[in-house]
Amino acid sequence: MTLPQPHIGAMASYQLANLEAPEGTRLISMAQNESLRAPSPLALDAAHMALSAGATYPDPDWSELRAAISLVHGLPEDRILCGAGSMELIASIANAYLGTGDEVLTSDYAYAFIKTVTQFTNARFCSVPEINLAVSTDALIGGITPATKIVFVANPGNPTGTRISSAKLRELRQALPENILLIIDEAYGEFSDHLDERLFDLSETTNTIILRTLSKSYGLAGMRVGWGCFPEHISEQVRKILNPNNVSIASQSAATAAMHDQDYMSETCRITAQLRDRFSEQLQELDIQVKSSHTNFVLLQFRNNAEASHANRHLVKNGILMRQMQGYGLGHCLRATIVAQDDMMFVTTRLNEWSRTR
Ligand SMILES: *Cc1c(COP(=O)(O)O)cnc(C)c1O
Repeated sequence: MTLPQPHIGAMASYQLANLEAPEGTRLISMAQNESLRAPSPLALDAAHMALSAGATYPDPDWSELRAAISLVHGLPEDRILCGAGSMELIASIANAYLGTGDEVLTSDYAYAFIKTVTQFTNARFCSVPEINLAVSTDALIGGITPATKIVFVANPGNPTGTRISSAKLRELRQALPENILLIIDEAYGEFSDHLDERLFDLSETTNTIILRTLSKSYGLAGMRVGWGCFPEHISEQVRKILNPNNVSIASQSAATAAMHDQDYMSETCRITAQLRDRFSEQLQELDIQVKSSHTNFVLLQFRNNAEASHANRHLVKNGILMRQMQGYGLGHCLRATIVAQDDMMFVTTRLNEWSRTR
């Protein structure tokens, strides 16, 4: 037998999300924060056209995609890196910068993948409490130790859906020693871009990385395209670790076309927000608490763990799969992605039904 590295052997096995509806029911997946509608028709056409070039390797410099991102966000192309999802970028940053003895600091309900990458690089995972299910920059500042190498904040947060202001994140950056790398993961940034100023300039002037993805607002989760705005000294290191052919030809073409179709993306965000806010009101009428969400999902807070499990059983029986939250220490919650209107109505009806058996 060949033994893994001890710290890899000690990690829990990867758990596939359970995505099967019971016999005879149609599956409504609210577990993965995927978009409620198909990619932009322009992205579909572009991907289709690109397939004829499938015998060749993709552009390792993501030239057209970077040009499109640069145009939309007004960023210099040479500070953008693209990944097979932002997860590849997060993993590559970790591989380049973390090792035994280093600490990653984040908050209690941070996006779980940051814990995974901390474990596989054999660094130490540290988290500080959130206040009212939102990141507290004061708590993060208080959690810094001499071993802190990376501070990670997803804003808006997953699974909470809450966001903190750009001003707070600028304050956090100012309070952090220069040598600490700050990662701001804006996977849901497009859902709240209208509310606040952008933070990309931090990656030019400070030791900060801003990450975005086409998986959520652009509806391209299956194509695996993420990107980030990096300080030059960091992009140089991370580039060494990325798979040189990481984003397929079809994915690069689809993502480029999707970036050029900002209207479609904005419309997706608008439709999602409308359904989300309506759903949140209906939940509150059922005495299920929700925080105001700035994403394409909501976190349903039940009175206790037993009640959340009870509701979940009723939903699963009807083919509705929300994400259970025990892994985050939020066993009294379920996270529900906003899906198309008809399905949202079906879900609300089933939750109404459940609330009468409470
Ligand atoms: C979905 C999500 C990601 C991963 O996105 P990919 O680009 O699909 O890898 C990263 N961060 C957060 C907070 C997410 O919710």
